Amino acid sequence: MDSFSPSELDWERISDILKGRVQLGPKIVTVDINSVCNLNCVFCRSQSKLVRHFPQCELCLNRVLKTIKSLVPLGLEEVNVSGDGEPILHSYFKRFIQELVDLGIKVNISTNLTILTEDVLNSLSKADSIGVNFCSFSNYKLIHGRDLASQVVRNLISLVNFIRDNGSHTSVDIDFVLSRPTLRYAFEVTELAKRLGIGVEFVMVYGEDLPKGLFFESEKEFKPVLRQIHSLYPQGTNAIWFVEKTSPFSFSRCFIGWFHCFIDVFGGIHFCCQHPGTQFAEWQEDFKTLWFSPNAQKKRDSLTHLNPRNCHHCNYCAEGLLLSWVEKEVRKREKSG
Ligand code: SF4
Ligand code: SF4
Repeated sequence: MDSFSPSELDWERISDILKGRVQLGPKIVTVDINSVCNLNCVFCRSQSKLVRHFPQCELCLNRVLKTIKSLVPLGLEEVNVSGDGEPILHSYFKRFIQELVDLGIKVNISTNLTILTEDVLNSLSKADSIGVNFCSFSNYKLIHGRDLASQVVRNLISLVNFIRDNGSHTSVDIDFVLSRPTLRYAFEVTELAKRLGIGVEFVMVYGEDLPKGLFFESEKEFKPVLRQIHSLYPQGTNAIWFVEKTSPFSFSRCFIGWFHCFIDVFGGIHFCCQHPGTQFAEWQEDFKTLWFSPNAQKKRDSLTHLNPRNCHHCNYCAEGLLLSWVEKEVRKREKSG
């Protein structure tokens, strides 16, 4: 599972937050590189049958790389490669991953892992982390639209073996899609993850247009189950759902605008992947100017939890919470001299 470990640059970021200014670029860039997929998950905003028309497109990766290269000297440490589609299907996926690896930054990939050629295996094993969308054998078709559960699990085993045999440091997580029918299978998927020595992230799905009754309305419905699962495999499952019960952190402010940037498949620039409300620019050649612009700063300063339902337990939010805790610690230390 992901956990936030502050780097040297994060301490600079925290000091900037406390002073209300921004001097560094984003720590993490998330980029949706395409909107083409071989599945049609029922919750997907680009592929679901509920979506009438979502343009099928690919970002120009030369342009993405140019932007990323310009951000490395400003403190960029990580790139999340994902999509409004399956990123592996981008025509230049392999070259893109190699270029990112050559830049020496951390590379995280989100995939449905239904496709695993030798080339794809090679590329994935160069990443730092891989998140694999999955739910359960019994409900895979219902949630993901095609009957490919066995193929995904076979690919997962091949990937884990390949990584181990090649001495790669890539960490792998199953991104388990929480839904009413899949919840009971969360135990067996966690068992599988434990056997393979990989992690499980539990993902809640939202949306106005989702089929009625399929997904949870409130986290109260599944939290007791996740609590049990977490106690069975604490080192491999995400505890994000329990953060608010166990921490003294405030949930009022969101610090994502200080360390994260999301480029959508149409070139919109946002601070958060989950909220269109955090968009502050359209892509232009000079990305640095966008990040430091008065408009971006205004948006950055205004970010709170935009929608408590969606914001409540995002990973970035947990990182923001940690920053908020650090802020308190720094203030305490300042007071005590
Ligand atoms: S795998 Fe991802 S992109 Fe493809 S349909 Fe499912 S959610 Fe959408
Ligand atoms: S609180 Fe979390 S989900 Fe909400 S805008 Fe901030 S980062 Fe995004």
